[in-house]
Amino acid sequence: MRIGVYPGSFDPVTFGHLDIIERASLMFDRLIVGVLVNNEKRPLFSADERVNMLRIATRHLPNVEVRGFQGLLVDFAKEVGSTVIVRGLRAVTDFEYELQMAQMNRTLDPSLDTVFLNTDLRYAYLSSSLVKEVASFDGDISSFVPDFVARQVAEKNKK
Ligand code: ADP
Repeated sequence: MRIGVYPGSFDPVTFGHLDIIERASLMFDRLIVGVLVNNEKRPLFSADERVNMLRIATRHLPNVEVRGFQGLLVDFAKEVGSTVIVRGLRAVTDFEYELQMAQMNRTLDPSLDTVFLNTDLRYAYLSSSLVKEVASFDGDISSFVPDFVARQVAEKNKK
């Protein structure tokens, strides 16, 4: 059984993430989306909220499972029985950091490989942080995230 892991913060999930998830789900028997719990960045949404939003947004994909994880990605991959990490690449700016992380992970666990899926051009400029910034100024984020996510972002900004 081919199991892939797609890790990230997903704060919140965007159409860019969902495009990568849909495409990666075709490449593996099972795709585990790993939501980073102990994040350096101070997230807008709690880990539980991020996991729940991803579960709803991926409901139509039967071989996709969403789980929170703490600690090292290499340990999480081992725990779920995967040797392939999936990451999305938007632009050259993503590349340096992603390559560094892939090399670190492969050094920590040589059985692990990272594969990169290039972003769909429709979402090349899209990031969770920009979505949050636009929303914080009451901008319309309905083209970037599912409607129910946009509503939850608006709720957070009211508080
Ligand atoms: P992280 O904090 O680990 O970078 P993110 O939630 O920001 O987590 O992103 C998770 C993964 O999804 C990363 O590999 C990132 O490059 C990728 N990604 C984010 N936005 C997009 C997008 N618009 N198109 C393709 N990949 C994306």
